[in-house]
Amino acid sequence: MMSYEEFVRKVIPYTPGEQPKIKNIIKLNTNENPYPPAPAVAKALKDMDYSEFRKYPDPECSLLVEKIADFYNIDSKKIFVGVGSDDVLSMAFLTFFNSDKPILFPDITYSFYDVWAKLYRIPYEQIPLNDDFEIEPADYFRSNGGIVIANPNAPTGIMLPNDAIEQILQKNPDVVVIVDEAYVDFGGESVLPLIEKYENLLVVQTFSKSRSMAGMRIGFAFGSEKLIKYLSDVKFSFNSYTMNQPSLLLGALAIEDKEYFEKTRNMIIATRERVKLQLKELGFVFGDSRTNFIFAKHPEKSGKEIFEKLREKSIIVRRWDAPRISEYLRITIGTDEEMDTLIAELKTILS
Ligand code: PMP
Repeated sequence: MMSYEEFVRKVIPYTPGEQPKIKNIIKLNTNENPYPPAPAVAKALKDMDYSEFRKYPDPECSLLVEKIADFYNIDSKKIFVGVGSDDVLSMAFLTFFNSDKPILFPDITYSFYDVWAKLYRIPYEQIPLNDDFEIEPADYFRSNGGIVIANPNAPTGIMLPNDAIEQILQKNPDVVVIVDEAYVDFGGESVLPLIEKYENLLVVQTFSKSRSMAGMRIGFAFGSEKLIKYLSDVKFSFNSYTMNQPSLLLGALAIEDKEYFEKTRNMIIATRERVKLQLKELGFVFGDSRTNFIFAKHPEKSGKEIFEKLREKSIIVRRWDAPRISEYLRITIGTDEEMDTLIAELKTILS
């Protein structure tokens, strides 16, 4: 018998890290920033004229786009904004990956990529990282329908040098190459300057990590004017008003405060480097993270056991029951105090 269900677009959704309702936990599972947004955000929120909410927001998102353009000293026609970088990436998949050839991305990477590929019926191939969890550029020197690289990669935290990305671009002039730089502000190196040289490069970033605004949902992309126009045309064919009024205003204020941005990201980098030494002392092994998390395993204790024991102590980290990485924990860098508690609990668990 025919059923409407036959024609439903069935998908297995991405599973976001949990947002527990209980208080007093140490939440190190979704790579949120432990520090609040820039102080101007709090003030603007207090002074906000709620009566404006009866109006639609600016569909062009001009204020936010201008402030991003100022910060990065780049033409505003080369910038696209969306509801978190998830929205930007999803729109980019829909816009640029429309070929019969498979798009390529690593086997261990942001686990939303294969979900979008399946949702939009984009053929894809997952290219294994090498044994050190690094991307081998030569694996991307072949016929494909597009490329997505998170750099630094997640959940590994490992950075691919920019010259390697440029090699991938040189070998792939006929497809769009997306570089997802969600974590680049914690010690990575942005390929943003390369958009002047490669018309097919889209660089995606977010306010969710280094700018402490995950709850406001602000993401952005840089690309050639042509690429951004294609992306905007698809966005305006999907939903004119993706960004709400508070996000537009508060995002603009957040990116204006350079000093606060520098201060908080340097605090996180310093904490990360200290925690690396402490984890090493406890016998953990991990790559050289350039992000606000560390992806680590312990040779003598299973990832699942450590995960569960931490949870009993109200410390929540992230773990995937997936091939190659099931022994690993992805630990977000919190405040110094939170990380001290984590290290103390790990000492007990391992003793
Ligand atoms: N890319 C990567 C690699 C991520 O880890 C995340 C965070 N889950 C995102 C993109 C999306 O972040 P957001 O939508 O909050 O900007």
